[in-house]
Amino acid sequence: MRKTLLSLLTALPFVAACHQAAAPEGLVSYPKVDSLLKVMTLDEKVGQLVLFTSDWSVTGPTMREGYLNDIREGRCGALLNAYTADFTRQIQRVAVEETRLGIPILFGYDVIHGFRTIFPINLGMAASWDVEGIGRSARIAATEAAAAGLQWTYSPMCDISVEPRWGRISEGAGEDPYLGSLIAAAMTRGYQGEDLSADSTLLACVKHFAAYGAPQAGRDYNTVDMSERWLREFYLPPYKAAVDAGALSVMASFNELDGVPAHANAHLMQDILRDEWGFQGFVVSDYTGILEMVQHGYAEDLEDASRLAINAGLDMDMMSSGYFDHLKGLVESGRVSRQTLDDAVRRVLNLKAALGLFDDPYRYCNPEREKERTLTEENKAFARQLAAESLVLLSNDGILPLKKGERVAVLGPLAASKDDLLGSWRGAGEVESVPASILDAIKEVTPVSESASKVVLVIGEPWSWTGEAASRSSIRLPQEQTALLKKLRAQGKQVAVVLLNGRPLDLSEESELANAIVEAWYPGTMGGYAVADVLFGDVNPSGKLPVTFPRNLGQVPIYHYAKNTGRPYIHPDAKYESRYLDVPNEPLYAFGHGLSYTRFDYSPVTLSAGSFQGEGTLTAQVTVTNSGACAGTETVQLYIRDLVGSVTRPVKQLKGFERVTLAPGESREVRFTIDREMLSFYRQDMSWGPESGDFQVFVGGASDQVQTASFRYEI
Ligand code: BGC
Repeated sequence: MRKTLLSLLTALPFVAACHQAAAPEGLVSYPKVDSLLKVMTLDEKVGQLVLFTSDWSVTGPTMREGYLNDIREGRCGALLNAYTADFTRQIQRVAVEETRLGIPILFGYDVIHGFRTIFPINLGMAASWDVEGIGRSARIAATEAAAAGLQWTYSPMCDISVEPRWGRISEGAGEDPYLGSLIAAAMTRGYQGEDLSADSTLLACVKHFAAYGAPQAGRDYNTVDMSERWLREFYLPPYKAAVDAGALSVMASFNELDGVPAHANAHLMQDILRDEWGFQGFVVSDYTGILEMVQHGYAEDLEDASRLAINAGLDMDMMSSGYFDHLKGLVESGRVSRQTLDDAVRRVLNLKAALGLFDDPYRYCNPEREKERTLTEENKAFARQLAAESLVLLSNDGILPLKKGERVAVLGPLAASKDDLLGSWRGAGEVESVPASILDAIKEVTPVSESASKVVLVIGEPWSWTGEAASRSSIRLPQEQTALLKKLRAQGKQVAVVLLNGRPLDLSEESELANAIVEAWYPGTMGGYAVADVLFGDVNPSGKLPVTFPRNLGQVPIYHYAKNTGRPYIHPDAKYESRYLDVPNEPLYAFGHGLSYTRFDYSPVTLSAGSFQGEGTLTAQVTVTNSGACAGTETVQLYIRDLVGSVTRPVKQLKGFERVTLAPGESREVRFTIDREMLSFYRQDMSWGPESGDFQVFVGGASDQVQTASFRYEI
C-alpha cells in the first residue's frame, strides 16, 4: 500500500482529537481539515465539491471507468447511488490508497422511507402523527443503510405542499408546518443519532431548499412565487426544524423563487440558512440543478451557472459537471475567490471528519454487519406497526372491521401487487422482500372467494404515478376503477375500498358508493399484513389526514390554515360571498380527519383563565372518552385563531396534538399549555412575535370536529 499524505497527517498528534469536536456547533473546523487545505492543489479542492453517481446493472452497482479515474485523480470526492458493503469498500480503496492525499469518498443515497425495510411513504407516515415512531423508522433506515457502506441520506424531505397534482407531495409530511417541523426534526435525530461517526448513523440532508412543494399548477419543477411572509410562516419551518435538530447538509431545490433559482439564491443559502439559522454544514445541489440554471434563463452557460452557484453559497455539485469542468478556471481568473472555494471545501471535509471517515474510511463497509442488520424481524415488525398506524379510515358504514372466517372477495388491480406497496423512492427495498400482497395477507386470515357478498376492493394509483416527475392534471381515480366499484355496488355487494396512492384524491364519487374507504397510501414492505390487521380489527385504525382531501380539483389549493376573506361564506343563499356555485367550500375530508372502530367523545374545552399576559401561560383542557366497545388511539388536536392582527391570520392553525390510547369506557384529561410562542407570527414589520388581542382555541379529533373556547392575550 502506498503511503498517502493523509496517512502521514493522521500520524500527527492533533488527529486523535478529531472526534471530540464532532458537535454541530463545533463544526467550524477540524485541525486535520486545516492541514489538508494547506497542501491541497486547486484540482484536489475542486474534487471535494464534485458528486457523481454510480451506475446500476442487474447484478448491482457499477462504476464507469471514467469516474473511477476521476476518483483516482482526486477529482471526485463524493458518490451517490453506490452501496453495499463490498462495492463501497472497493471504491473507497481507490480513494484512500490510490490518490495523493487519500481523502475518503462520501457515499450518499436517497434513503427516504426506509433502506431495505421499507416503511410507508412519508405522507403515509405523517398520517400516523406518531412522531416518535417516525423518528424510529429513520433510525432503523440509518442502521441498515450505514451497514451497506452509506454515510449520507438525502432526507428529510421538508417540502410543505398543498398541491395534490404534484407527485412529490407523497414524499413530504403534508400541508402543515407544525406537524411537518416535528417530523423533520425527529427524522433528523433518527438518522444522525448522537454521534455522526457511529457505524449506524447517517448524515441527514434537508431538502429541497426551498418551497419546492409549491410549483405553479402542480407541475414538477415549475415556477414558485410567494410572499416572503408566507414563505417564512408556512414553508420554511420544517427546514429550519431539521437544521435546529442538527442536520448538517442541505439540498437546493429545482425551482426558482421570486425569479432567482434556488441553486444561486443567496437570500436562501446565505441570508436565511447560514446567517439567520447558523447552519454550519454544506449545501449540495440537486441532480444537475446547477446546469438547469441555463434553461431557467438565469445563467449564460454552465460556467456562468457554476460561478453563480458557488458565489451564492452552493458547496457541492451533484451531476452538473459544472464545478468539475469550470471551477478551477473560475478561481484562477478570480471570478470565484480562493476564500469561497476554501470555505466550501472546508465544510465538506469537516463533515467527512465528523463522520469518522478519516479515522477509518472502511468503518461503514462491513459485509457481516450488513447481513446482521438488514431486514431483521424486529425491523419488519416495526414496519408493520407503523404501516398500520398510518392507515386512515376515511369512511365506514359499519362494514369494517371484517370478521375473521367470513367469506370475502378481494378484487381490484392492486390487490395482488407487492410492487405497489413500496411506493416511489423505495431505497434499496426489493419486491422480493415483501412477504405478502394485500390479497395474500387477507387469505391468511379468511377464505377468500370471488362470489362473496363482501368485497375488499384494492384500487388507487400505481406507484409510478407518484414521486418525482409524476404530476397529474386530474386527481381522480382511473375511470375503470370507479366503474368497477359501481358495478359491484349495482350487483348488491358491500364494498370496502382500500386505496393505495400518494396524493389527496378527488373521491367524491367513490365516497358515495363505497361502504368504507381505507386510505392505505403505499404502506411499505409489511403493508399487506398491516392492511389486513386493520381490516380485521387486530389494529384499530388511528391515522389522521396530514393533508386536506378536496371535493374536486377546482377547490385546490385547499388547506386548514386558510384566511377568512372579507366575504366569508356564512349565509346559505348569499351570492356575493366567497363560495363556489357548484360545490360547498368545505373539503371532502378535512385535515386531521380519520375514523376509528370505536367512538371518542369530547367534553367542552375549559381554559385555566380567561386571559394571560407576556411570558405567562394558559391551559386548555378537554376530557376525551372512549365511548365505544374496543380500545383505540385518538389524536387530540389543538388549533388556535388570532381574531385580529396587524396582518390577517388563518382561521385555524394547528398548534399542538397528543395521541391518547384509551380502553373502552376510559376517559382521559388532555391538557395543552398555550404560550406566547404559539401566538407568534410575522407581524406587519416582519418581526416575529404575538400581538395583544382575542384568540379562539379549538380542540377536537379533526380540524372540522372541534370544541371551542376564547381567551385574551396581552403582550
Ligand atoms: C431529486 C432529489 C434526490 C436526487 C438524488 C433528484 O432528482 O430531486 O430529491 O435526492 O435526485 O437522487
